[in-house]
Amino acid sequence: MIKYKLSCNKCRFSFDSWFASSTEYEKLKKKNFLSCINCGSKNVQKSLMAPKVINKKMENIEVHKNQKIKDIHKKLKEYQNFIKKNFEYVGENFAYEARSIHYNNKKKYKKGIYGTASDVELKELKEEGIDADIVPWIDNNKN
Ligand SMILES: [Zn+2]
Repeated sequence: MIKYKLSCNKCRFSFDSWFASSTEYEKLKKKNFLSCINCGSKNVQKSLMAPKVINKKMENIEVHKNQKIKDIHKKLKEYQNFIKKNFEYVGENFAYEARSIHYNNKKKYKKGIYGTASDVELKELKEEGIDADIVPWIDNNKN
């Protein structure tokens, strides 16, 4: 399919129209089958704008991209499951808990911890020399 911008020489109206191919456009134009959707004049012509072509290749790229995202999501999920199994969830107390482990050497948790922290909190933790990795997290409800 090919999209042309047609413009009317009579009323100066312009509109988009789809054609199976550029030859189909020429054929319809020759047979006077093209008319202005505004005033009905047959005096319409293709404007010089470059046509937009829907390309099969583009669709494939789109599908390919979706597959890539799915793969990444799968990897992230595996990673998340690993973290869930091996780390203790502390929710929004992450910064507090990370500090208490760091400064008091508390053996409160048998495992490492994970949770949520703001950018500011993460920056502060880093400045204090506390290791924290950011893990991209995806919602479990979304697949
Ligand atoms: Zn017109």
